[in-house]
Amino acid sequence: MNAIRTIRAIRGMNDILPGEIGAWQHVEGHARALLEAYGYEEVRPPMVERTELFRRSIGEVTDIVEKEMYTFDDRNGESLTLRPECTASVVRAAIEHGLLRTPGRRVWTMGPMFRYERPQKGRYRQFHQIDVEIFGVAAPSAEAELIVLTRRLWKALGIGGLVLELNSLGSRDIQAGYRARLVDYFSAHSSALDADSLRRIGTNPLRILDSKNPAMQGLIEEAPRIVDELDADARAHFDELLAMLDEAGVAYRLNHRLVRGLDYYTGTVFEWTTDELGAQGAVCGGGRYDNLVAEIGGPASPAIGFAIGLERLVALLEVQSVELPVAGPHAYLASAGTRASILAHAVAERLRDAVPDLRLVVDAGPGSFRAKLKRADRCGARIALLLGDEEARIGRIAVKDLRAREPQSTVAIEELAGHVARNVFAR
Ligand code: AMP
Repeated sequence: MNAIRTIRAIRGMNDILPGEIGAWQHVEGHARALLEAYGYEEVRPPMVERTELFRRSIGEVTDIVEKEMYTFDDRNGESLTLRPECTASVVRAAIEHGLLRTPGRRVWTMGPMFRYERPQKGRYRQFHQIDVEIFGVAAPSAEAELIVLTRRLWKALGIGGLVLELNSLGSRDIQAGYRARLVDYFSAHSSALDADSLRRIGTNPLRILDSKNPAMQGLIEEAPRIVDELDADARAHFDELLAMLDEAGVAYRLNHRLVRGLDYYTGTVFEWTTDELGAQGAVCGGGRYDNLVAEIGGPASPAIGFAIGLERLVALLEVQSVELPVAGPHAYLASAGTRASILAHAVAERLRDAVPDLRLVVDAGPGSFRAKLKRADRCGARIALLLGDEEARIGRIAVKDLRAREPQSTVAIEELAGHVARNVFAR
């Protein structure tokens, strides 16, 4: 007989399991609460879009569009793509549904993104982002708001040590002039460039600044800087942002090599980075994209946003040993015997009615109290409620505190709710 081959998950696409989910929920819960508190509205665009949307927004000669997209033809022969990021989708949705009619609209979304990258620690093919956008605000107050919001999120999560890196890429015109200067500079030093960077001279020279190749670091440090090319407006905008951050006590590091991997950015770009996660140190990245809305066919509208990488944030919680709230059950109701098992769910439901926030697990299947108590202990429950046939007959239930060395007691089923409320929630 042929052995049945087990089917495993796709490389770079991870299962998030019960032991890890607490950290995810910690991040998602705090992010949701904070975003709502700052006036952001949640949107949920689909995970699949027309390929054209990403080609037009992210840029034809970016790594993402050139080699990382999951693109396929649907049964109608239309080219579709699993979203590699979701700013483009959110902008598309905002245009399509008239969200841009209200200036200052703040929206956010959360979910999986897909990029065919080489999987490694902190870099996956399905990964998750929290994505936040502000539409219709041209002033640097939008940048400042996104930055103070993220700073508050790190604090709420119990994460320390993230560094804010900032740069300004200027308008499209400034970028065009700068690109030409970079091409001249790197062409004059082409013998010192690696193959990847040589290719990028002709396609996307700004990305050379992002190279991690140690042999090229000296050359890159000496390259022309975009901040030196900014016009008066761009300079004033950036200076005003820096003044706002100084006033709010936000520390930052100016990084003239910060260019980001997507073509739609203009003006301010920023990243929150850490050196505690190895090579993949960017936890959050974003910036202004004042041309994108019009480029996708919407009304001219300034816009800015960022995305947080959830896998990396969760990894950082672990590295920094952040204590997470334990969410195990309060109580574990175990029955043994036919009569007791028939009664178990009815007793549990009455208890849930009476104690609304109670986390209660019912174990009314076959098996001994001994085995069930072991399971109760393992799942972290504080108390076990033991219902045997004899207890069921006389209308009582045994209560055993699994965390204190106290003798087991019994209470009348009618009084169970009060007892549980007093003994589980009062502590
Ligand atoms: P980006 O959309 O490339 O600007 O990325 C924003 C954030 O998403 C990064 O700072 C990372 O935290 C995260 N991220 C991007 N790509 C990946 C990936 N392949 N795996 C895990 N996280 C990622």
